[in-house]
Amino acid sequence: MCEMLAREKKNIARNAVRSKETMLSALIVQHWSLSVIALKHQYIAARYDQQRGSSDSRGYDSKRRRFRLDYLRRNPLCLDCLDQDRVTAATEPHHLIKLKIEPDRKYNETNLRPLCHECHSIRTARGG
Ligand SMILES: [Zn+2]
Repeated sequence: MCEMLAREKKNIARNAVRSKETMLSALIVQHWSLSVIALKHQYIAARYDQQRGSSDSRGYDSKRRRFRLDYLRRNPLCLDCLDQDRVTAATEPHHLIKLKIEPDRKYNETNLRPLCHECHSIRTARGG
């Protein structure tokens, strides 16, 4: 009887170790899968950046970022939405005259209009 109990105890202990090992294996596989996915995303982002150039080469330098944030802090609402009696947060300073045409007016606020993403897309699509 004592021998049977001892064997049963050993089995329980062995099963517990196996179950811990299984859980650990599952965690390792899960972690590995997530790492592979993260690496894949990093690779895709790097390829995308390579194709379109770095943020600095596209003109998104730190001065521009700071200016954008400051401008949106002072002009927090989308003016096109306000014209239609909607209150929407502005997320993008829109250049009324395109930078390609007048690059010197990049930070000139008389050439800017605060817009939400949707209104900015509409204006950009129609070219002004
Ligand atoms: Zn809007």
